[in-house]
Amino acid sequence: MGKQSGYDLVLTGGAIVTMDSDRKLVENGFLAVKEDRIAALGPADTEEAAQAASLAKRVIRTEGKVLVPGLINAHSHLAMTLFRGFAEDLVLQRWLEKIWKYELTMLDEAAIRAGSSLAFAELLRCGVTCAHDMYWHYMETINLAEEIGFRLVSGPSFTTIGDFDFDQMLLTGRCVLEDLEGYDFILPVMQAHSTYTTSAAMMGEVLKLKQEYGVPFTTHASENRQEVDDVLARFGKTPIQLLDEYGLLDDRTILAHCVELQDEEIQLLADTGTHVAHCPESNLKLGSGIARIADMLEAGVSVCLGTDGPASNNDLDLLGELRTAALLQKGFTRNPEVFTTTQAMEMVTVNGARAYGAESFLGSLEVGKKADVVVINLEQTHMTPLHDICANLIYSVNKYDVETVLINGDIKLEDGVVTCLDEEEAKAEVRAVAGRFV
Ligand SMILES: [Zn+2]
Repeated sequence: MGKQSGYDLVLTGGAIVTMDSDRKLVENGFLAVKEDRIAALGPADTEEAAQAASLAKRVIRTEGKVLVPGLINAHSHLAMTLFRGFAEDLVLQRWLEKIWKYELTMLDEAAIRAGSSLAFAELLRCGVTCAHDMYWHYMETINLAEEIGFRLVSGPSFTTIGDFDFDQMLLTGRCVLEDLEGYDFILPVMQAHSTYTTSAAMMGEVLKLKQEYGVPFTTHASENRQEVDDVLARFGKTPIQLLDEYGLLDDRTILAHCVELQDEEIQLLADTGTHVAHCPESNLKLGSGIARIADMLEAGVSVCLGTDGPASNNDLDLLGELRTAALLQKGFTRNPEVFTTTQAMEMVTVNGARAYGAESFLGSLEVGKKADVVVINLEQTHMTPLHDICANLIYSVNKYDVETVLINGDIKLEDGVVTCLDEEEAKAEVRAVAGRFV
């Protein structure tokens, strides 16, 4: 296999958490990359592995390390790195008012580019190879992602916040969806901020575009009690009921948060196949509450994980988020059997890929899939011993254990150095922009 032409890169000697349909773990494995895909994978002590290494342009030894699929951050607002630590100790609605004021007056394309650049560096350092983004001047973030080769879920975003022109928004949305077909690293999605910042007419157009272009749709829903009460008072329905009425609940829709759900709403999400992007740290920090994820999993809801924006988290560390999520559900339900290690790993890999319609090429380490791979050091004191690698990856790991990150087979982080952008420059630019917020 691949003998004639050889491989571009072979990683060999380490463990591999494949997240394939059997959730197979290879204890001593090799993974071969050809162009942008995984071309071979299996045990390292075989003739095939030895041949693969001998024919590869480059070999990386991975003894004492584990390969995991590139992690997927299913909900975020990347350039909100600019607002990290800016709006503290506020409930969601006051927090939004404060942030919106600055977003609408202070953010230009250059600021968004700086904030996004810093976010990409941070994401790579946390083992994230694919992230969702919903934010202002989103084409800046999209173009930067395409330029540096970072996988981004993004697309036209609808809202009544600020000085909006609905017709222009529609026209732009259509153009963007058409343009995105020519991008290599962008997974297009239709977006609306929430049911409380949109109208029925607007959501009707969102549904049309979603169907016409065959893209997934994402929005915030039922983030806290006040949101549900406000939407009930205004529309006579909860955000979930309203989205159902709009025809927007299906297996191509991802709802961020879903903190305040009734039993019937959980069942509705399960029945329609609607995905939930759980963002526990943001929910905790804004005092929004704790989403009933254990109940959702029990009901069969597909749950993926996001950090939300770094202004309400306050970081993009998806590994840290995963630990918070697992501990929270066990404590909240007073039941350590919920939120298993397998379910936890699924949330940041295969479930994220499925939510955004990318399961055929992302989410697991399997031959034929994109070579989005993260190499994590297992030899640190806090990772010793290795009774259960996945347990260590959820409960013991530190983001600094992430050593190497590949996207499409290209190295984006090596030995802890971000190779696809100038991290120092990004930090300096973000400091300059943040200095204008007073
Ligand atoms: Zn959000």
